[in-house]
Amino acid sequence: MIIGIVGLGLIGGSLGLDFRNRGHQVLGVSRQQITIKRALERGVVDEASCDLSLLSSAEVIFLCPPLRMILPTLQALLPHLNPGTIVTDVGSVKTAIAEAGDAIWPKFIGGHPMAGTAEQGIEAAQRGLFEGAAYVLTPTDHTNRQDLEILTQLIQGLGARLHTCSPPDHDQAVAWISHLPVMISASLIASTQQEADPKVLALAHQLASSGFRDTSRVGGGNPELGRMMAQFNGPALLHSLTLYRQELERVTELIALEQWDALQNWLAQTHGDRQKFL
Ligand code: NAP
Repeated sequence: MIIGIVGLGLIGGSLGLDFRNRGHQVLGVSRQQITIKRALERGVVDEASCDLSLLSSAEVIFLCPPLRMILPTLQALLPHLNPGTIVTDVGSVKTAIAEAGDAIWPKFIGGHPMAGTAEQGIEAAQRGLFEGAAYVLTPTDHTNRQDLEILTQLIQGLGARLHTCSPPDHDQAVAWISHLPVMISASLIASTQQEADPKVLALAHQLASSGFRDTSRVGGGNPELGRMMAQFNGPALLHSLTLYRQELERVTELIALEQWDALQNWLAQTHGDRQKFL
């Protein structure tokens, strides 16, 4: 197929590498000329440009710019789309995008690959990023079943595990497993800075090891991505944060009241529940 990609960064670039590897023709559009040059050098795309008109022959287009740029990019693409072109996006929030996208272009289907790394940009693009990863599509009542089938085949061709669900269900689920962890992890890092004794804080810096590395990783990531999660998925994230705060209060109380058996039971429950996610 002829596949168009807008935004040749980590996700867009990785899609390009994998689609080309599977014999598709890939046309890429990005903002900066240097990105275009590197995308061609790295074999991410067959042809690339800063101009969206390059995508006029694409059969399926993946929108992969930052979240806030997805709908403006779809709007800007309109003059270059054929009536049959299927458009999807990779944004990590779906309610704000899927319904508006559907209204702009009837052959728009929201998507979200649950794969990534801490790196950004074209140099971070890598082969096989989606192999074995979950990939969510959020079709609506208006979605053409044949379009959904074409996208399904493409995504399964990447080795990804496809899931379909409604945009709100997607957003609440990712609030729990992706957006809430970022805010908790960032709060952990911020709370360490409340330590008043500089000697203790310096010692903590020295002693930090795998436990702190694991629990602080997602909170120490790209600030713009974290902002987008909160800005575009506010209600679902606030719901999760409210219930999280209740659990934090519960465990604080158990410790303050020295209810050690209850604390152990609570931890036994979390030990078991964790397995359901992994
Ligand atoms: P990224 O590495 O920063 O790539 C985004 C690329 O978009 C940049 O390289 C930039 O290209 C390009 N861009 C920026 N503004 C543009 C515009 N106005 N028009 C065209 N291209 C533009 O970010 P990413 O991690 O791949 O994330 C991209 C999307 O994937 C986001 O919507 C995010 O929600 C979603 N996502 C991210 C992850 C993750 O873990 N990172 C996982 C799943 C989904 P230039 O170099 O040309 O400026």
